[in-house]
Amino acid sequence: NLLSFRTFILMQFTIPFHIENYIAGKFIGPLSGKFIDNVNPATGEIYGQIPDSNEKDVELAVTFAQKAFTEWAATAAETRFKILNKIACLIDENIEALALAETNDNGKPLWLSKKVDIYRAAANFRFFATGLMHFASESHAMENKAVNYTLRQPVGIVGCISPWNLPLYLFTWKIAPALAAGNCVIAKPSEVTPVTTFLLGKICKEAGLPDGVLNIVHGTGPICGEAIVKHPQIKAISFTGSTRAGERIASIAAPMFKKLSLELGGKNPNIIFADCNWDKMMRTTVQSSFSNQGQICLCGSRILIEASVYEKFKTEFADKAKQLTIGDPLENNKQGAIVSKNHFEKILNCIETAKKEGGTIILGGNAIKPAGRCSNGYFIKPTIIENLGPGSKTNTEEIFGPVVTLQPFTTIEEALQLANATEYGLAATVWTQDISKANLMAAKIEAGIVWVNCWLLRDLRTPFGGIKNSGVGREGGWEALKFFTEAKNVCIEF
Ligand code: NAD
Repeated sequence: NLLSFRTFILMQFTIPFHIENYIAGKFIGPLSGKFIDNVNPATGEIYGQIPDSNEKDVELAVTFAQKAFTEWAATAAETRFKILNKIACLIDENIEALALAETNDNGKPLWLSKKVDIYRAAANFRFFATGLMHFASESHAMENKAVNYTLRQPVGIVGCISPWNLPLYLFTWKIAPALAAGNCVIAKPSEVTPVTTFLLGKICKEAGLPDGVLNIVHGTGPICGEAIVKHPQIKAISFTGSTRAGERIASIAAPMFKKLSLELGGKNPNIIFADCNWDKMMRTTVQSSFSNQGQICLCGSRILIEASVYEKFKTEFADKAKQLTIGDPLENNKQGAIVSKNHFEKILNCIETAKKEGGTIILGGNAIKPAGRCSNGYFIKPTIIENLGPGSKTNTEEIFGPVVTLQPFTTIEEALQLANATEYGLAATVWTQDISKANLMAAKIEAGIVWVNCWLLRDLRTPFGGIKNSGVGREGGWEALKFFTEAKNVCIEF
């Protein structure tokens, strides 16, 4: 009955001080017995420990994944759909507990965890559960001679490695298509934000995902992450994280001829023309600059403004950003904590660099200590900087915090030059009511995603990813299901 079901779910969501790896359907500690501290960034307190897994834990996970693979790969699409859809439903049912866990781990406001992160984690599973029912392959007929058909078979055992900024959201964005396509998965969340993936293990067990199909190992990038990348039985790596780590992963995986999908950093331009819908642009620009404390790879960290409206924009934007409330993420604040002490210090160092480079701080530029339980947390005020050229460190290197720069432009050509002036190429936003200008900009901007008069509007069917140093490959829709399968052509002569 309903009551016992609820009690069962609540029991499942007790978070122990030591979380464990999820291998072969069981929760087990790291074989070395070593753990890493887990800190709540809003309070600065150590509130748990996570396995410091190494290659032995990864080996164990691979052994069980191999055992599970043949049966999972042959499981009927409808059965896989039912299990993955059940996972989506259980995520939805447990949204409160999952959102709270995400906020305590990451520092983001609770309302944001609910509205974006956990909502989207369920959506990812639902999307690929239904997608797998409709996934089909091509056939190529050679008139009166032969027919070719393409078999799309699961790759085998695949590795999925995700970052801390959208923890369960990006973890599920990888593992859902990998599982849907019939693979067994060895997955590692960020060591900074591991708890919701630990809880996901419980959900997968409850949903009836066969043991060994999904294995979640916790640990650091250089030890646990690299053990996944190096393992010869893991045939594909899907990674989201920094360009630095992506480069390292590619250097290991490429000589082993593994399939690689790399979703990396960004330094995205937000381009504002004088003829835009001003109010919508202003409202959205505050979000695209500071949502999730600026820790979204798609945030527009370089704001390029047509010179005729530069001063007007600067004044209004600073005024709006000043109104963003910062503090306890469990309360109704717009801005929460930065994810960790390390990252907090990195952002403050970047602000110092901007000052040394001659930048003028228009707003923020400093940390704050909220009163009460968050007085030892890691909070930084929304920061706006101007007077820096396109070649400055501040305008070329990813900061990944609540820090944006302003640069004026006078012509479309100059806007394009500034937009394309970094090594990154993830996303861009263009604000104009002129359809021709919008199309021209969209065609010429070097980025994998261009938003016109909107930001972060996502259709999960569309290709998602970056060019230049922002990555290799695309996620989303059929792209993801294609990545997690091998195409085999079969040619039959009549
Ligand atoms: P990170 O690169 O430090 O870590 C990401 C993940 O990789 C973590 O799980 C980490 O443990 C692991 N890792 C680190 N080094 C590794 C190695 N040598 N081998 C294997 N695994 C390794 O990134 P982060 O600090 O967690 O996340 C922030 C970065 O992620 C930013 O650069 C941001 O732009 C990027 N990001 C990109 C996207 C995208 O879709 N393009 C989305 C979100 C975040």
